[in-house]
Amino acid sequence: MISVVLPIYNEEKGLPSFVDDLYNQMKNINQKFEIILVNDGSTDQSLQLIQSLCANYSELKFIGLSRNFGHQIAVSAGIDYASGDQVILMDADGQDPPELIPDLVHKMNEGYDVVYAKRIKRANESFMKKWTASIFYKILNKITSIEIPVDTGDFRIINRKVVNALKQMPEKQRYLRGQIAWLGFKQTPIEYERKGRNAGETNYTYKKMIGLAFDAITSFSNWPLRLATISGFVCAILGFILILYTLYAKFILKIYEPGWPSLMISIVFLGGIQLLGIGMIGEYIARINDNVKKRPLYLVDDTNIDIHA
Ligand code: UDP
Ligand code: MG
Repeated sequence: MISVVLPIYNEEKGLPSFVDDLYNQMKNINQKFEIILVNDGSTDQSLQLIQSLCANYSELKFIGLSRNFGHQIAVSAGIDYASGDQVILMDADGQDPPELIPDLVHKMNEGYDVVYAKRIKRANESFMKKWTASIFYKILNKITSIEIPVDTGDFRIINRKVVNALKQMPEKQRYLRGQIAWLGFKQTPIEYERKGRNAGETNYTYKKMIGLAFDAITSFSNWPLRLATISGFVCAILGFILILYTLYAKFILKIYEPGWPSLMISIVFLGGIQLLGIGMIGEYIARINDNVKKRPLYLVDDTNIDIHA
């Protein structure tokens, strides 16, 4: 059986036609399937819509989270509830084309554990979005030791082995494409052109994007902490050279200007470096704090899926 997991946050406009498309596509594959619609605390009529869709087709299931937990957690909930041997992750706004699913399944059946869809083109997305994404992925790849594929979202197919491995990762800061890359196994890309949204606006505000970027970095790299150490070290050396030079200037060159500019510069400079270091440590401590609380990742308010393996 194949499970398709769709995270949904305020998608009432495009959802019915998208689910229709997807449903027909899945029917064509000639395999048992289920489509899991995860309502991530939508504030529009998405939940009602989802429930009425579920009444029409037995392959449709839903999970209604108790509030908006964010895209990555909604997908994680869907993965936990999926009972397929293969699980497809995709967006519900039409940007990930259902037409690609047969290719994903086909490629997986050649013997891969993960087949991810790599976008060769991104339609109708702002220049800022593409530019910030490209810079972010470059930095991320520089500072992490695992290889997280570039130009790849969460659109992919994973098998049971990967699903079970993901379930063993209890971390609160979810960055699924990184976590899946970290797992290893046999992974391969296939290429596609990412489309524009069917309807509505992106739900990924800059605030959410920055949050995801910070989670990605802190989850997979300790490099920022090391940066604090290195910059502290560099400053200390610079400071030491400055002391030597001041002594040299005073006793050998006999030019000594009692000036506050140098004092101010060092105070501001060192103050900045210290704050930077503290901030970086704070980022990690905040995440440690989140994880030691051991809160559940999400809460389900209502669902028509009875098992919870
Ligand atoms: N989404 C979600 N919770 C959120 C934000 C988004 O479940 O808090 C869903 C959204 O409904 C869509 C997918 O995640 O199916 C991707 O979101 P979006 O299209 O807004 O992001 P973008 O494609 O612009 O990166
Ligand atoms: Mg989208």
